[in-house]
Amino acid sequence: MKRIGCFAVIFICLFGAGTPTLADGAPTVFVSILPQKFFVQQISGDLINVEVMVPPGASPHTYEPKPSQMRKLAESRAYFTIGVALEEAWLDRITRINPEMMVVHTEAGIDRMAMSGDHHHEGEQAETDEHGHEQGEQAEGGLDPHIWLSPMLVKQQAEVIWTSLEALDPENAAAYKTNFQRFSDRIDELDGQLKRVLEGKKGMKFMVFHPSWGYFARGYELVQVPVEIEGKSPKPAHLRSLIELARREQITVIFAQPQFSRKSAEVIAREIGAQVVLIDPLGENWFENMTVVANKLEAALR
Ligand code: ZN
Repeated sequence: MKRIGCFAVIFICLFGAGTPTLADGAPTVFVSILPQKFFVQQISGDLINVEVMVPPGASPHTYEPKPSQMRKLAESRAYFTIGVALEEAWLDRITRINPEMMVVHTEAGIDRMAMSGDHHHEGEQAETDEHGHEQGEQAEGGLDPHIWLSPMLVKQQAEVIWTSLEALDPENAAAYKTNFQRFSDRIDELDGQLKRVLEGKKGMKFMVFHPSWGYFARGYELVQVPVEIEGKSPKPAHLRSLIELARREQITVIFAQPQFSRKSAEVIAREIGAQVVLIDPLGENWFENMTVVANKLEAALR
């Protein structure tokens, strides 16, 4: 008897420790990327367990789920898509394992634009397929998936998340509504802050290795100049033309992100005396991340 009791204590310590704040019997839902986990948790609080498909440091353009994730997906109540390539490749398989699961397309209703950099380099058209397969972005018809980097688009996604959580768990509808309202207000605040910070920077250009910041740039009237072409590092000739462009446009900042190579950004930066700013568009603390980006742009654009 004593021994069993002891095992029970160990069991609780090992398996209970990871989720101490979750409500009893909290349903599990899945999202594709970390910022989405943040969005769902802003609205769900501790009432829902949120699992993420793409772990920190991995790219949503190339990631393949692990068998342990597929097992958890079989029990998941909902999947919140956002339009990244891995969904295109896996969602069918996932819904076959778990036909009861609610699939919520948070990107629905968002008018997505063409991925920046796709028609930048006319001579390389032939590589689209090979490359698109590798990076996955062509699978979405070349549409830009990075809708989580625009506060106003995140507000739209948050509304979809809110109404879906209500449908999933009507008992807690009041809590979801309150949380959504608070999140929505904070997004408005952030948007106002970004507008103020970037006010005098309209039309200014910044370079970025992987063009994740298209919607952000559009929202605050900045211009994103991609280094990567169709998901590839530039060849020497293209790199030279980028250096000339950067010099001509007096570009002072080049963004790079941990999921992609920093090499060409560093080469260009060295040539023109710009700084490379490492920024992670997939960082989990979205509010903090957006503020960091705005501050770095404010400091660098002149
Ligand atoms: Zn991307």
